[in-house]
Amino acid sequence: MSSYPPSGPPQTTTLRQRLADLRGPAVPPRPLDARALAALAANPGCGRRALLDGAGVDKTALASALGTPAAFGQSQFAIVRGNSFEAKVKGDGGTELLRLVYERLGAGSEPPGGTARVPDLTAAGPDGRAGRTALALREATAAARAEGAWTFLDHPMLVLEVAGTPAYLEPDAIVVHPDGRWTVVEIKSFPMIDGSADAAKVGAAARQAAVYVLALEKTAARLEGAAVGHLALLVCPKDFSNLPTAAVLDVRKQRAVTRRQLDRLTRVEELAAGLPEGLSFDPARSAEELAEAVAAVSASYAPDCLAACELAFHCRQRAREADAVTVLGRSVRGELGMLATVGAALAAADGIRGPAAGEAADPTAEALHRAARLRAEALETAAAHPYQRPEAPECPC
Ligand code: SF4
Repeated sequence: MSSYPPSGPPQTTTLRQRLADLRGPAVPPRPLDARALAALAANPGCGRRALLDGAGVDKTALASALGTPAAFGQSQFAIVRGNSFEAKVKGDGGTELLRLVYERLGAGSEPPGGTARVPDLTAAGPDGRAGRTALALREATAAARAEGAWTFLDHPMLVLEVAGTPAYLEPDAIVVHPDGRWTVVEIKSFPMIDGSADAAKVGAAARQAAVYVLALEKTAARLEGAAVGHLALLVCPKDFSNLPTAAVLDVRKQRAVTRRQLDRLTRVEELAAGLPEGLSFDPARSAEELAEAVAAVSASYAPDCLAACELAFHCRQRAREADAVTVLGRSVRGELGMLATVGAALAAADGIRGPAAGEAADPTAEALHRAARLRAEALETAAAHPYQRPEAPECPC
C-alpha cells in the first residue's frame, strides 16, 4: 500500500552489489524481524553481527556451513502453550488485556469497560497490513481525542527502515489510550513468579518492545496529537497458573541502544569498506573460507550471545581458542581492564606479569596479585586451623 512507504534513502546500486557479493550471488537478503533487531541491542559492540545483519546474511545457514549450527528456537510444546496463553489474554475483544493496561498504565483515564474499539487489520501482504495499521492508528487517535475511546490493535504490522530496506514487525498488541497515547504490549509465556520473572527473558522482551516503540515513533511523527509511551506492558502467566499478570517495562535505554545500532546498520557500507575484495559469507563456500571471512570482521563475544545470535557457538569457539577473557562474561572483562586473555590474568595473579622498564604499573594486575596472595594466606590459615573460622582478610580495594 503506497500510503505507508518507508522513509529514508534507498540503497545505491554499488552498495546493493557489494551486499549481494557478501551474501553470495544466489542468496536472497534475509529480512530482519523484531527478534533480530532486538538482539542487535544485546551486543552493541559487535561489528560482525552489525555487518552480517546489515548485509542480510542468513546467519543460521552460515553457522551450519561453519560446522557450528545454532540450537535456537522454541519447542513445539512451548509454541502451543504460548499461543493458547496469548489467545486467552486477548479473548473477548481484549477485555482482560485492556484491564491490565488500564490497571498498570491507565491512571487518569476512564476504564475501558466493554466499549473498546477493535479495528480489523486484515490486508494483503505485509505492506498492505502496515498501511492498514497506520490507518487504524490514525482513526484510533482521532477517536480518542473526540470521544475518549480505547482501541485495541491485535497483531498490527509496523515497518521500520533498516539499512535502506523495510523490516516488517508484528507486535502482539498496541493499545491506544483515551489521551491518544500508544502502548506496546508484549505477551510472553514464561511465568512471573511473586511479581518477578527471569531477568534475561524480561531483558529480551524489553529490547523487542523497544524495537516496536522505535517503529511506532516513525508513524506517530506523522500524526498530530499521537504519542508513543516509553513504558511497554509485559503480560505473562501468573505464578504457575494460566492467569495473566502484567509488569511495566521502561524501554528508554533499550530504545536508545537499538537506535544507535540501527544507525550503524545504515552505515553498513563503512563496515564493509575495510574488507578484502572477494570476501563472501556465501554458505556454499567451504568451512575454511567462511571461517576466514568471518574472522576478517571484528567481533565482541560474550556469553549472552548464546541466547541471542546464531553465530554464538562459532564465536565462542574462537574466543576460547584465543584464550579471551570475554568467555567469562562482560563484567569480568570490564574488571580486568587491559588483561585481555585468561593467561595474562593468571600471570598477573601469580605476580609474573609486572610492568616493563619505564612502564607504569597496571593497577588491575596489582589488585589481582594482592587478591591472590590474600586468598593463598587465607587457605593456609584454614589448613593450619581447620576448626577455626579465618578472619576476613582486608579488602584489596
Ligand atoms: S555471536 Fe559472534 S557475531 Fe553474534 S553477536 Fe556474539 S560475537 Fe557478534
